[in-house]
Amino acid sequence: MNDLARDPAFRSDAGPDAASAGMPVLERWLTGPRIAGLPALDARRPPPLLSFEFFPPRTEALEQQLWTCIRRLETLRPSFVSVTYGAGGSTQARTHDTVDRLVRETGLTPAAHLTCVGASRGAVDDVARRYWDCGVRHIVALRGDPTEKGGRFEPHPDGYASAVELVAGLKRVADFEISVAAYPEIHPEAISPAADLDNLKRKLDAGATRAITQLFFDAGTYLGFLDRCLQVGITAPVVPGIMPVSNFGPAKRFAASCGATVPDWLEQMFAGTEEDPDTRRMIGAVIAAEQVRLLQANGVDEFHFYTLNRPDLTYAIALILGVRPQPAITPAG
Ligand SMILES: Cc1cc2nc3c(=O)[nH]c(=O)nc-3n(C[C@H](O)[C@H](O)[C@H](O)COP(=O)(O)OP(=O)(O)OC[C@H]3O[C@@H](n4cnc5c(N)ncnc54)[C@H](O)[C@@H]3O)c2cc1C
Repeated sequence: MNDLARDPAFRSDAGPDAASAGMPVLERWLTGPRIAGLPALDARRPPPLLSFEFFPPRTEALEQQLWTCIRRLETLRPSFVSVTYGAGGSTQARTHDTVDRLVRETGLTPAAHLTCVGASRGAVDDVARRYWDCGVRHIVALRGDPTEKGGRFEPHPDGYASAVELVAGLKRVADFEISVAAYPEIHPEAISPAADLDNLKRKLDAGATRAITQLFFDAGTYLGFLDRCLQVGITAPVVPGIMPVSNFGPAKRFAASCGATVPDWLEQMFAGTEEDPDTRRMIGAVIAAEQVRLLQANGVDEFHFYTLNRPDLTYAIALILGVRPQPAITPAG
């Protein structure tokens, strides 16, 4: 907490003051809660570490879009960029091709997402070995979801049954850096919040060194989760997964499928912009900027962006966080 927030005159935890609605402004100022602004960027602190998530393209046009996105975001010198693995392992070849091209044509550090769905341990290990052989040293290890919407995960008879098992298996293949998923609002299949946290801890104990969270919209949701992580002895970085939203309808459906709460205030901010993409993008930028600034003010210095292969919002928000573009690093060798 900063000094202003400790000052009772600036405490903003009094909540919305219904009685102050409609008051003359000076009376409201004298009697309502006083809201302190977010602190300005501290030029002495290093800019935060960023990572960007992409999905593997399905068509030539989407491939062009992805690479335009990569070329714009690489100037922000992310600590790594990750490429997702389609539900049920459906994008295995496309994920591999994208990661391989990142290794060959950029100076970025790629991380390949890998899931256990529908594959034997041997097959998953082979995919991991191929990544190692082409120079990939970082895996985002996930259990994954089945391809059919709403279907339950059934492990392959000879397969890894959970991300914990996958992390341990990958460590046997090679000394990968491993990131895993974390759920500030609890995984929809978890039997209890405590069991979900215990599962996260076991993934880290099995060899992962970082957790990346499922998307969330209220900064307080993530900050409360950090407290719960600390209470059970999780000390590895738990990096917030930020999804800048520019199209509310699809984002709402996606969030619901992940078990992430879509707050009413978010819906209200986008209301009436269905036919107005420019305004939607501006609103999306403001919302995401406010979210990351609040996290940064609370000491968060690492952010993972779900870019959806679109660079503009992520780029703008990175600049707001104090990151400055630099010439891209050229591929090694
Ligand atoms: C950052 C991030 C990236 C992602 N990328 C992808 C991707 O590229 N491709 C993709 O298909 N999906 C991806 N997902 C989604 C992910 O695959 C799903 O959320 C999936 O349902 C769970 O994967 P997990 O690795 O968290 O599973 P796990 O950690 O294995 O946990 C899944 C659930 O099972 C419970 N559980 C695990 N073991 C036990 C046990 N022994 N007893 C009781 N309960 C148990 C856990 O508590 C949790 O509720 C991603 C998610 C995140 C947050």
